[in-house]
Amino acid sequence: MTDGPLDFGDPADLDRLRRDFRAWLAEHPLPERDPDEPVPVFLHRWHRLLHSGGWVGLDVPEEYGGRGLTALHQVAISDELGTRGVPGVPRIGYLAHALLEFGSEEQRRRLLPRMLRGDDVWCQGFSEPGAGSDLAGMSTYAHRDGGHYTVNGQKLWTSYAQYSDLCLLLARTDRTAADPHAAISAFVLPLDRPGVTVRPLRAANGDDEFCELFLDDVRLRESERVGAEGDGWPLAMTTVSYERNALDTGHLSKYGLLIERLRRVAHERRETLADGLLSEVGRCVVDYEVLVAHARRRTAERLAGRAAGPESSVDKLLMTRAEQRLYETALKVFPEELYGEGGEIFGDYLYSRAASVYGGTSQIQRNIIAKRLLRLPADRRA
Ligand SMILES: Cc1cc2nc3c(=O)[nH]c(=O)nc-3n(C[C@H](O)[C@H](O)[C@H](O)COP(=O)(O)OP(=O)(O)OC[C@H]3O[C@@H](n4cnc5c(N)ncnc54)[C@H](O)[C@@H]3O)c2cc1C
Repeated sequence: MTDGPLDFGDPADLDRLRRDFRAWLAEHPLPERDPDEPVPVFLHRWHRLLHSGGWVGLDVPEEYGGRGLTALHQVAISDELGTRGVPGVPRIGYLAHALLEFGSEEQRRRLLPRMLRGDDVWCQGFSEPGAGSDLAGMSTYAHRDGGHYTVNGQKLWTSYAQYSDLCLLLARTDRTAADPHAAISAFVLPLDRPGVTVRPLRAANGDDEFCELFLDDVRLRESERVGAEGDGWPLAMTTVSYERNALDTGHLSKYGLLIERLRRVAHERRETLADGLLSEVGRCVVDYEVLVAHARRRTAERLAGRAAGPESSVDKLLMTRAEQRLYETALKVFPEELYGEGGEIFGDYLYSRAASVYGGTSQIQRNIIAKRLLRLPADRRA
């Protein structure tokens, strides 16, 4: 087994960690999934098993239930899993970052160990029917009354809320503020609280990932607010900047497996591949190599203590381009994957179409790059 794309020619302790993990994985393989078991429930079992081995939250400080190692250690584990085509460590790092940065000491000590163990499953309640890209335009309102808030509104696209215990919720707490960004606060919402209704939505591919979340006179305690009143916007930006990266997810290693397969087939069938397909495979390889080089640089920056920041929009765009082109090309090279038993590439192809939407659309990433990284003037015609 070769090391994955994010193998940094490892320092000794990282090398040992990889070896320990491989030994653990040999004894604790991915469990079987009963076809009737919903995928999120199965992945939750996998989360708890990984945690029992000490493989979740490696970069979270020990006092909050982690192992106090570096981001590179967590990336190495994702890399090991991805290279074996095994589902990665659950995607909770971006929510953990929000709590680490904005949560009170009491919230960090109480919520983070439970999140890492999988005792509480979290979802993200940001988007609304009228507020996705324009998130600051949200209308869910938390009215303060003494030490409580009463929340009314609706969230949309809340992934896997039906399997979740807690929701990181954004709501407006000030209807008069001149700057809407300064009027938003964040809360930890228990989904069994009276007044909360979760309604799953069936998508075209048959999955029920998305939910609508209705909030009718939901009472939240002041202590359930994360950060100060008005901290919701910077908290949301921190959350999405960690959500938009390709590093911790094992995605790179997973793409790497398919790239290798494409390279091999392109080599073997180069005389017979349809016109243009060989150069499409070449473009996939280039996109992938660019993404890997970029991810390595970003990992090194994180190790140096730099926050994810607006550059995560570059991460997201590169990842989206590489992923969408890869699965599009793979379906042309392996058209048989469209049908029959396997169909895994087809499933990944379908989901790759969402990459330019979730975590902020590609257009919004370009706006962020133009404004915050390149500092280009706004287009007055818009
Ligand atoms: C698979 C998936 C999972 C998701 N999970 C969650 C979740 O768990 N929690 C959550 O809160 N949300 C979630 N979302 C929602 C996601 O964050 C939003 O879909 C996304 O931010 C876009 O918002 P919207 O759908 O309202 O589209 P809109 O904002 O209505 O955008 C429509 C189109 O207009 C374009 N556009 C809008 N404004 C501009 C602009 N200023 N400049 C240029 N173009 C613009 C957009 O790029 C897009 O093409 C998920 C979405 C997907 C696809």
